Amino acid sequence: MIAPQRVTDILITLVSTESVNPDLVSGGSGERQIASYVAAFLKDAGLHSELVEIAPGRFNVIGRLRGKETGKALLLNGHLDTVGVTGMDDPFSARVENGRLFGRGAQDMKSGLAAILTAAEALARDGLPGGELIVAAVADEEYRSIGTSDVIARGIRADAAVVTEPTGLEIAAAHKGFAWAAVETYGRAAHGSRPADGVDAIAHMGRVLRDIENLQQRLAASPGHPLLGPGSVHASIISGGQELSSYPARCRLDLERRLIPGEGGPTLEAEIGDILARLSAADPRFKATYSPGYWASSLETPSETPIVGVLARVAREVLGREPEIGAVSFWTDAALLSAAGIPAVLLGPTGAGLHSDMEYVELDSVFACAEILYHCTRQFCQKSR
Ligand SMILES: [Zn+2]
Repeated sequence: MIAPQRVTDILITLVSTESVNPDLVSGGSGERQIASYVAAFLKDAGLHSELVEIAPGRFNVIGRLRGKETGKALLLNGHLDTVGVTGMDDPFSARVENGRLFGRGAQDMKSGLAAILTAAEALARDGLPGGELIVAAVADEEYRSIGTSDVIARGIRADAAVVTEPTGLEIAAAHKGFAWAAVETYGRAAHGSRPADGVDAIAHMGRVLRDIENLQQRLAASPGHPLLGPGSVHASIISGGQELSSYPARCRLDLERRLIPGEGGPTLEAEIGDILARLSAADPRFKATYSPGYWASSLETPSETPIVGVLARVAREVLGREPEIGAVSFWTDAALLSAAGIPAVLLGPTGAGLHSDMEYVELDSVFACAEILYHCTRQFCQKSR
């Protein structure tokens, strides 16, 4: 059983410990301090706890609790890092008001992490009947997920995973993936008074942008995936030109594609490659290159997967209502776990304002989440008789 005050105290400690992702926001502290806290917490709770430096200054924590008998292994995964705090008044105060706790990471996802920690502590105290609980508190989910990638690279495997990103206490079994890429157009620098000598790289990028918009319209009109709808594409960052009185020699566009099941980085490469080939064929002066960037696949866990059934049954008992089994709009580490052969789903607390200047979580939902994780772990891991 979960003590609400215990959950609140842990969440206050987590939110008041700054852990802004330093690859996202320069000057962010990263996970060193918060990971040390989590590692000590799990050790004190009675788990086997390991603090792992996966890159300079970047840390994961792996906790393990073995059951009395053999059984299945369940991985509870939550990220330690947050996005930046620009525009926030009091990002680390962890202020509690009217049942809500405010601050950066309150919703995304220190509340989910607090639920995992409290559940793990209660399971260690009460004893796990069978199987094994693995807690992975990971670095860098908000940038390139080196944390969960490292968990997988170390060979840590489980029969299922629950990632406690905020889902409003519904079960999410699907979300989109994403792909990043850059396009550069090359013109010819010339004095602004000599149009015959100059080639305008920015104007040429305008042609690319128009075709990307057309691509987006085609995607939006396609039926897409039954749960997720169609993929999408948008421009993210653009830069180019040298000074006012010159023809720009270069222009660079960074862009993003959101992916549905069956799509990947090569999908975007083929789509943009097609655009660039057509523009080159139409005008011999048009010159451009495509550079693929990081991409991560979508999540699609079938609803007949055992973890979905156990989680739905436990959530129904704890919440007194039928949980929805659906999708979320954002990408999560569950996709990496799933791709590594660990069936993964999401269930986490209720809140608002993730990545915005006013972020909070409903404390009641964090208590319920901890309760669900506690019972889900006991039931899922126990050897079936
Ligand atoms: Zn998150």
